[in-house]
Parts: sequence; structure tokens; C-alpha cells
Amino acid sequence: MPPAWTRRFRPGTGATGREKLRQREFAVDDAEVKPYFPLDAMVRAAFDCAQRLFGLRFTPREDLVLYHPDARAYEVHDAAGRAVGLFIQDNFARTSKRSGAWMSALAVQGRNGGEVLPVILNTNNFAQATPSLLGFDDVRTLFHEFGHGLHGLLSNVTYTQLAGTSVLRDFVELPSQLFEHWMSEPEVLRQHARHVETGEPIPGALVDRLRAAERFGEAYETVRYCGSAIVDMAVHRHPDPASVTDWSAFEEQVLEQRGLPHATGINHRLTHFQHLFSSSGYAAGYYVYLWAEVLDADAWNAFQEAGSPFDAAVAERLKRCIYSVGNSVEPGQAFRNFRGRDPVIEPLLRQKGLL
Ligand SMILES: [Zn+2]
Repeated sequence: MPPAWTRRFRPGTGATGREKLRQREFAVDDAEVKPYFPLDAMVRAAFDCAQRLFGLRFTPREDLVLYHPDARAYEVHDAAGRAVGLFIQDNFARTSKRSGAWMSALAVQGRNGGEVLPVILNTNNFAQATPSLLGFDDVRTLFHEFGHGLHGLLSNVTYTQLAGTSVLRDFVELPSQLFEHWMSEPEVLRQHARHVETGEPIPGALVDRLRAAERFGEAYETVRYCGSAIVDMAVHRHPDPASVTDWSAFEEQVLEQRGLPHATGINHRLTHFQHLFSSSGYAAGYYVYLWAEVLDADAWNAFQEAGSPFDAAVAERLKRCIYSVGNSVEPGQAFRNFRGRDPVIEPLLRQKGLL
């Protein structure tokens, strides 16, 4: 079944020592960062990027009565003024709300049985305040879910069942993870990440520190992640799982064969690998986040090769080949249509500082 909603997921780290070291080495005080990221400005930044890339305009519809006063509705039009759909954002935490951040399609785009324009909901759980200020990771979440939102809004297919985010799980995170790249683009930050009191743009040195903190420990984390992904695959490929009496020994054997350094460990031991058992849709699926990163890093690289994060020709191809096709084109072919070739891993290795 295609996912009905998409939730931002970062494979968890069990590496608390690494986290402590990261905080010690790259301590970035929230109080120093947050004044540069007012929620309203970051929403405008996301809309601005969608306009510059895909020609979309977001017009508030304050007259629409929604399910909660926190939710905001926007009518979305394309560059030619044609209606694209309705976008709803529900940003604040409240006690009745599930935690996390996700995208839902309340109406899925389609043309079978009459034209249906999409109604897309982005849900976040930011702390409500006046003004509401975000941390760097919150901004990433906002852009990530908005990327899923654009996948739903830009959908342009005939059959509802093939629309928007109804794609394979290792492909659904491409439009969302890719959109995260624009939030930390210098020209986007200069324009939108301005101090809530002084209006000064965020200092470049502070952005460098935030990025360095994010990149810290990538090699270690990637090895731990791959260890768990490999074990997940091995379990699901086992020809006779009922014959295994000691899964810890099985895990050990798989990792030994792959040469995993013993001291590194893996993110999730088999006996508490919750991701595998959440639903059958997650079985043998722990690899998908890293694979989606391969795709998004390579896709982002297309803009870098073109010399601009808003290169019009690349953006047009991205919209036509990826964001609008849903599952109407086989994902590998969709990527080839966009990039002119199969994905390569080098852009991700560079992005992680591993090349
Ligand atoms: Zn996601």
C-alpha cells in the first residue's frame, strides 16, 4: 500500500557518547540561533523557494473555517494563475495532537472521474509563542514536510492511486529531503533568516557552526546505520528463519562477514529493532532513508552543476520528472528522466564529508 501520509523520520542514534561529544565540540546556543528563525519568516522562505523554483504562489484564505484556529489555509496558483490546490499548515503543538511532523493529502490530485485538485496538510509541533522562534533543526523539519507537501500539490497525473506521494518508500523521501537543501542556501538565509529584533541577517560564521555540528560524526553514524540496514536485509532474505534459535549470534555473524568494526556497533540490535516490526511496509526497509539521501544529494548536485540553486531549466525538469509524476513513471526511470543517468553516490559522500 502506498503511504497515506509521510512523516519526517531520522533513523535514531543509539550513540549517546557521540551526541555528548558533538554538544561539547560544537555547542551552539539555542538562544543565539532562534532569533534568526521566526516561524512566519521561515514559512515565507519556503513559499518563496517554491515560487522561485516552480512558479507557485501561496495566497492566505483566512475566510476558510478549518478544524482548529492554529491551522492556516493557502490557495495555491501556478505561474500562469491556474489553481493548483489548497495548502493547509498546522504548525503548533497542542495536547490533543500526535507528536512529530508529517504530511497528509486530504484530497488527492486526479482526473479519473472528474478533475480533483489536491488539498495538502502539513503538520508540525512547534512551541507556540509570540513570536514563535525555531531552532535550525525545526526549520529543516518545516522544509522537509513542505517538500512532501509540494509532492502532493504539484502532482499532475490521471489516476488518483498513482498521485503525489503514493510512491515507493525509498522514493517518497526524495522530494522532501531534497527541499531541505534550500533552507541553508546563503541567499535564502540572507533574505529570510533575519534577527527578529534587529533585522540583521544571520552571520555566516554561525551558519558554518550549525552546519559543522550537523556533519559531526557522519562517518561513524553512517557505518552504524548501514550495519542495521544490512542486518534487516539479511533477516528478510533468510530462507528458513524458523530454524534460527539465536538471533544475536545471527546478527554477529552477518556483521562479521561484512567486516563491521566491532567497537562501532549498530543503531538497533535485532531484538529491539522496532522499525522492522512497525508494519509489513517497513520490513526490509531500514535502508530507504540512506538511499533517498543518495537520490537527494545527486539531485541537488544538478543545481550545483548548473551554478545556481534556482536554475530555471533544472527546476523545470525537477518539477516535470519528479514532483509531478507520482507513481505514473517507474521511479528509476523518473530519476533518469531528471538526471539523464542512474544515481551516483559521490554527491552524498561529499555532502557527508566522506569524500
Ligand atoms: Zn519525510
